[in-house]
Amino acid sequence: MRKTKNLSRVMSMILAFCLSVALLPAQAFAATTDDDPATWPAPDSHYTAPDKNPVYLMVDFTDEDNGGVAAAHRCLSGAELNPDIVKATASAGGRVKYTCDTCGSWAQINVPALTLSAFTLDPAYLSATTTGVEYSGNAYTVVYNVAPAFHRYVGTTLDNHVSVTAPGSYGIIITVDSAIYDNVELRTAERLLVYPKAVPWTAEFDSKIYDGNSLLDGKTVTYLDVNGVSVPAALSACQVKVEGGELTVDTAAPVTRPVAAGPYAIGATITDDNYVWQTEDGKYNTVYSLAWIFPATNTIYVGDTVQAVRLTTGSSVYASPYTWTIDPSYAGFNSNKPGSTEVQAVITKGGTSFGRVTIPVTVVPRPILSVEEVVRTAPMGTAFNKLGLPTSVSVVAEGGTGNAQTVTGVPVTWSSTGYDPYALTQTVRGTLNLSRFPQLSGDNIPAVTATINLTYGTVEAPTVSDYAKTYDC
Ligand SMILES: [Zn+2]
Repeated sequence: MRKTKNLSRVMSMILAFCLSVALLPAQAFAATTDDDPATWPAPDSHYTAPDKNPVYLMVDFTDEDNGGVAAAHRCLSGAELNPDIVKATASAGGRVKYTCDTCGSWAQINVPALTLSAFTLDPAYLSATTTGVEYSGNAYTVVYNVAPAFHRYVGTTLDNHVSVTAPGSYGIIITVDSAIYDNVELRTAERLLVYPKAVPWTAEFDSKIYDGNSLLDGKTVTYLDVNGVSVPAALSACQVKVEGGELTVDTAAPVTRPVAAGPYAIGATITDDNYVWQTEDGKYNTVYSLAWIFPATNTIYVGDTVQAVRLTTGSSVYASPYTWTIDPSYAGFNSNKPGSTEVQAVITKGGTSFGRVTIPVTVVPRPILSVEEVVRTAPMGTAFNKLGLPTSVSVVAEGGTGNAQTVTGVPVTWSSTGYDPYALTQTVRGTLNLSRFPQLSGDNIPAVTATINLTYGTVEAPTVSDYAKTYDC
């Protein structure tokens, strides 16, 4: 007894752009006693020679592992079964026929033409061809179910793992190349839709004060690819324009290095076609964020007017394309005390207003440049608390832009330490109390001193007079 089995059952769906078909060679194998040809599907037609045994023929691809083509026949030793196989195509049927070369018995199974009507996309995979799938870096599986009448010839389902390396719309071709089909290629009505993977947009661009460096310096925006690897996006900058009363990116005006003061649209671009940013508004390759470089301001002193504020908006290399005008009537400016205040600037370019921005300004107390010189003359032996030292002094403080100003009535506490009522000339030290003068800086105060001259003689007279006066009463 002989039996042949053909395992060349190849079913594949492949991308229209990369057609590849494997063709396995037919394999013969020895029969075993477990094989009972009588259980095989019956042939379409057969002939048994007189007084000879029938030829059994099997064409069944239902079982993917054990199906195929097989023939069996019992005859004289040395007999051979000769195959006569005409492979079917998409337009023509074929046949499988085996004939005994010794006794003439034969059997034949006709193979129908294979058309798209034999295949239906499995509903579980419908969405891949309607709403599409997101790029995942992995292969996609699409399964077609086979009409029952064709199970015997091609099996019950066809599935293939489609390796997709880029988003797109892919035609699906069913290819059947086997012992009974001659490389049938059927282009299905469906297309596999693969969209770029949407990665969340989470980046933020902070505005900053002009410092001579690019807004992009030290900035990175990344996303995770399908392998979990962090990939940097390409950063760029553009000027902005006014459209419908709002600032929007002006892609016609790219800025290589956003250094000068102004509003910029900072773009983060995913250059890999397999990915897009997912934002609240939709999916984009490039997401623009508005970020400002605000002008730097000089530090001003307490009490300075808004006219003391100057803006630094750029340099000779990186000049700001905008005109910045401080609004002198802005009510938010207040230099009454040290700390932070703000000015408001109007921004224009080419006659177009780009709105207003408020810019922080640091207000510092005025350094004390000098302290009133105190000189007291008293009789030798005068007690410290009788020296008539002033309870307050005037100081000269920095006025800003070269305008020193005098502040009077600054309390002072004099120290008696080291005072000698019988030394002719000496200096005593005092300490200013600035608690009621927040406009004055307590740092680096010049020495507060009083020069004391004690004398013999005439200057004693007032004391005597006072004494005499007491007697007069
Ligand atoms: Zn025979």
